[in-house]
Amino acid sequence: MANFYTILGVQKNSSTETIKKSYRRLAIKYHPDKNHGDAAAEEKFKEINEAHQTLIDPDKRREYDHQISPPPPRRAARRRPQTRDFVDIMRNKGMGGNSLFRKWGYKFKGTHIRKRIKLTLEDISKGTKIEVSYRCNTICPDCLRFSAATMFDTCETCLGSQVISTDKKMKFTVRKGAGQNEEMTLRGAGHQDFPGGPAGDLVLIIDILPHDTWTKRGSDCLIREIVKEKQLVRGDNIKIDTPMGWVKFIVPPGTNNGQTFRLTGKGFYDLQTNGHGDALIIVELNNW
Ligand SMILES: [Zn+2]
Repeated sequence: MANFYTILGVQKNSSTETIKKSYRRLAIKYHPDKNHGDAAAEEKFKEINEAHQTLIDPDKRREYDHQISPPPPRRAARRRPQTRDFVDIMRNKGMGGNSLFRKWGYKFKGTHIRKRIKLTLEDISKGTKIEVSYRCNTICPDCLRFSAATMFDTCETCLGSQVISTDKKMKFTVRKGAGQNEEMTLRGAGHQDFPGGPAGDLVLIIDILPHDTWTKRGSDCLIREIVKEKQLVRGDNIKIDTPMGWVKFIVPPGTNNGQTFRLTGKGFYDLQTNGHGDALIIVELNNW
């Protein structure tokens, strides 16, 4: 996990006053009011607040310091590892408590990152390529370079946590016909929390935005088509936008308000059948 001192850009021995000052400066910079819709800034703002809350409280700070600088490895290693240590450390993971594992050289897999991504039904109908920005724990490059020295001296880059928070970008291809809450996994693109241990995965969860006229139901597409009374009574030739593109559609004379018509194979791609679902046209009277 990220190092609170690094996040706030202060030293491990900085005074509470210095921490508060640095926090105010960063909080202004990353405040949501100034960064509308910027997910990275929002994430950063959360981190800053979490770090600040811990470091300005003397008790919490002492506890945190203890976690990021555990007792010397030689003394600790002589004890047989106990289950309680493992449980305690895992519980404190969010506070950087897993640094004990790092110092002892355990090879544990990093944490997975789960992130929701918003897509339109147009994206889903054709498939799309997206680029995702996210923050990720990686092993401190300076610790890798001087690994022997950092066992005993505190590294200035990561302040001994051996992990730093990095901005990353990844490209993903969203398959056509993907469903709501469908997950896409990029192995090894998640957090790397332990030197020598494999990174976790980056998991993207699809969140489909509401559409003006389309609703995805399985591979079928429900399409609301608003018409005038005249068109219901006399019928009409119209064009309808479907997941398979624009299609000609005949509104038969004497159509009822709310009547549904099925256009076979004009829905979304279906992975199971390697075909397409249907478009269900719901003809609705424009009441205003
Ligand atoms: Zn380092």
